[in-house]
Amino acid sequence: MKVAVFVIGLVLLVIGLLGAAYGWFVATGLETTHAFACGPGGPGEPYPGWCAALLSSASGYRTFAYGMVALFSVGVVLSVAGGIMKDVPSAPTMMMAPPPIPPQGALHNCKNCGRSMPTTDRFCPSCGTAQW
Ligand SMILES: [Zn+2]
Repeated sequence: MKVAVFVIGLVLLVIGLLGAAYGWFVATGLETTHAFACGPGGPGEPYPGWCAALLSSASGYRTFAYGMVALFSVGVVLSVAGGIMKDVPSAPTMMMAPPPIPPQGALHNCKNCGRSMPTTDRFCPSCGTAQW
């Protein structure tokens, strides 16, 4: 689940980045073309319709680039969230990992009855067998 969020976030991030770069690149190219072909030095008074089309498609691509930036942001948030979520479940696992046996000195089992007892006790508290 968290891995899926992380991967989706990463995919959105990459798509957003590429889309934004593409949209921005095309928009800038169209605007440059417009400035070059339709600018003060370009065709004169009868303002050609394709110049207006060029400008409007440039702004369309610019809007597209902004949308892709938003997608990129969503991707960043998702992948970060996925990364954080990945750490949360691993923490309780780590907390359960520490040994449940408290280190109250070394223990062993009585060789006669099997009762758990401290190695420091010579005689088994249950059956009294000498351990060493
Ligand atoms: Zn015993």
